[in-house]
Amino acid sequence: QRTPFIAGNWKMNLDHLQAIAFVQKLSWSLSDAKHDFSQVEVAVFPPFTDLRSVQTLISADKLELGFGSQDVSQHDSGAYTGEISGNFLARLDVQYAIVGHSERRQFHGETDAVVGAKAAAAVRHSIVPIICVGETAEDLAEHGPSAVPVAQLREVLSSLSADADIVVAYEPVWAIGSGKAATAEQAEQVCSALRETLVELLGEERATATRILYGGSVKSENIARFMREPNIDGALVGGASLAIEEFSRIIQFK
Ligand code: 13P
Repeated sequence: QRTPFIAGNWKMNLDHLQAIAFVQKLSWSLSDAKHDFSQVEVAVFPPFTDLRSVQTLISADKLELGFGSQDVSQHDSGAYTGEISGNFLARLDVQYAIVGHSERRQFHGETDAVVGAKAAAAVRHSIVPIICVGETAEDLAEHGPSAVPVAQLREVLSSLSADADIVVAYEPVWAIGSGKAATAEQAEQVCSALRETLVELLGEERATATRILYGGSVKSENIARFMREPNIDGALVGGASLAIEEFSRIIQFK
């Protein structure tokens, strides 16, 4: 009953002119492939400066493609130089906000408490947070596969009410941009532990309705294998989401 979800995280790539061309070509490619968005939801996550252009194009051409932001401030307004409020994003029809990406945790010192506050800010503005969790290679060696991602999820969810609409993304840090994806079995093991955590904290019904994505070196060659796993409901794709034909093949993973 969970609609599969393929999300393209552009990271710091494509300016607003490139974004317009990219979204146009992607939507042509998907329409050539007769993609059914009710069967597989698709969203792109451009840099902040592209969002207005992407929104304008999507609404003018009535595209079924979704879009979101790569981050959101935990604050709603005020003296926070350089930050972007969930309120501003909601005004641009942003549906999703990635929070707690490992690159934010690593390069901007975001803790689970900050990530929880960001997820709560998204929810306050009716934006669905995509909560990223994942272990480093050192975590994996020290604590095994699920301990760190499960602890991160617990901490972030402590900032949210149990009825908040969320998406969870499991992204092992060692698999991001390394070309070395987790195996489907490894990813499923962690995603099933994350699902159990959702059951415990949110109840069976919400846990069953919540999508859990895998991210880390997803490509057209490995996507189908991940999608066969019962607790993996889609992918958060980085590098491979920047090549139109490749991303389009990932979206049609069947
Ligand atoms: P890659 O697909 O480039 O490994 O990046 C994954 C990621 O970080 C998506 O958020």
